[in-house]
Amino acid sequence: MDGQAVKRVVIAGGGTAGWTVAAALAKNLGSLLEISLVESDAIGTVGVGESTIPTARRFHELLGIDERSFVCATQASFKLGIAFEDWAKIGDRYFHAFGVTGQSTWLADFHHVWLQAREQGLAGEFGDYCLELQAAEAGKFEGGKGSRLNYAYHLDASAYGRFLRAFAEPLGVRRIEGKIAQVDLASDTGFIEALVLESAERVAGDLFIDCTGFRGLLIEEALATGYEDWTHWLPTDSALAVQTEATGPARPYTRAIARPAGWQWQIPLQKRVGNGLVFCSRYLSDDEAHAQLARQIEGAMLTDPRLIRFRAGTRRKAWNRNCIAIGLASGFVEPLESTSIHLIMIAVTRLMQLFPFGGISEALISRYNEVSRRELESIRDFIVLHYHLNERDEEFWRECRTMDIPDTLAERLALFRDAGHAYQAADELFRTDSWVQVMLGQRLSPRGHHAMGRLMRPEQLSAALANIAANIDAAVARLPQHQTFLDRFCGHPSG
Ligand code: FAD
Repeated sequence: MDGQAVKRVVIAGGGTAGWTVAAALAKNLGSLLEISLVESDAIGTVGVGESTIPTARRFHELLGIDERSFVCATQASFKLGIAFEDWAKIGDRYFHAFGVTGQSTWLADFHHVWLQAREQGLAGEFGDYCLELQAAEAGKFEGGKGSRLNYAYHLDASAYGRFLRAFAEPLGVRRIEGKIAQVDLASDTGFIEALVLESAERVAGDLFIDCTGFRGLLIEEALATGYEDWTHWLPTDSALAVQTEATGPARPYTRAIARPAGWQWQIPLQKRVGNGLVFCSRYLSDDEAHAQLARQIEGAMLTDPRLIRFRAGTRRKAWNRNCIAIGLASGFVEPLESTSIHLIMIAVTRLMQLFPFGGISEALISRYNEVSRRELESIRDFIVLHYHLNERDEEFWRECRTMDIPDTLAERLALFRDAGHAYQAADELFRTDSWVQVMLGQRLSPRGHHAMGRLMRPEQLSAALANIAANIDAAVARLPQHQTFLDRFCGHPSG
């Protein structure tokens, strides 16, 4: 333990990560800390990251962010899940919807009963028993306090950064414009003492949060923490992003469409759509990627396509000495399940809970790093699952199918394949429902399942399932169209 009390927090970088950290610290611990944030307009932000998961709502609630102000300021739309198209096989389509599918009991999860009913020809599709999925398919949505729907947002990344900045500055965060030219380390401890800007201004602190994006200016360039490469499991390394005009009502879900060397995203906001192609540069050149994306997007382009390179993996330690990397500086698993903004939010939440008020200790660092790693590894496994279980013919997909996968994932797949069991482990983001939807969607058929469904007579089983589906249909029928709700919510006329 270094014993030095921590009061001065310096955040390096003002993208989504930097401003999220600033907003959360200022709101919750502001009176105990002095918070500065250094960012450079000349460098700018990564400019993508527009699809979220429902944890964003709970995080906003913690900060007391008003949903309407946020939705209107960030051109946000509502998201009920992700539609996966052409993944296991061209022509396939399945949903990873937020929310619960069917009704589970302590004895067995719902999908076991469904598998039994399916065998007996008594059940519909798995998605027939999920409210969020059915609402998404119908293009319907209703938010607000009384809503039964579990939902997230699609948002404009730049507007979100501005929104968080406007939230954080009045709470006392001092913003410093300028390029960080040097990071000064203490000669005895190797701790960071100060950031030195091009203007020669010196920003000293006790704790430094590295939110400088992929380069990891503090955590890597100054502290040489090291990076664990996961590209052998997640071989995509490039993305082309472009915004287009909306051509119709905003769908309340993200589309993820598999392509010969990766996949394409479509994220509808209120007035425009975010699009991108994530690909593996060993199988697709940048020129071919441009041509492919241009052919496949709908609506006129509002921006020039922008190429972004990345490397899947994680910093060996998210917290090293007196520096904590959050956001892209801490590592990256690609955006297939929209998890990066969540990881920022959960990281700053953990930091607030473990905050080193009395000094930085190895025990605190280990705890923080251990939980962060477990969390990220389970997200990595979940994403690898989508790639690995495929029956497609292209070389890229063959490589994904035949690659070695993490043991943790192999064990999960075996458990589901043999006995139909799925689970959510401790510190794991994705719920059992999510694993089941994706494993079934990627055509993994369990050879066995729990016999709970056999405790019911066929007519009882059939009636129980029909009842769930009928309730869902009735609830969906009462919901307004998503675009209508959105227009009303932000006070502009629909049309
Ligand atoms: P950046 O946005 O890169 O910000 C870095 C900051 O550091 C900037 O302010 C920059 O000016 C500053 N900086 C850097 N160097 C210096 C310096 N020398 N001096 C001063 N300032 C400096 N996440 C999701 O949750 N959902 C998604 O749908 C999603 N899609 C994505 C798609 C792609 C293709 C990629 C690559 C990422 C996606 N992400 C997504 C991740 C998401 O974009 C990031 O997690 C999020 O934007 C946070 O980025 P950041 O703030 O860490 O980094």
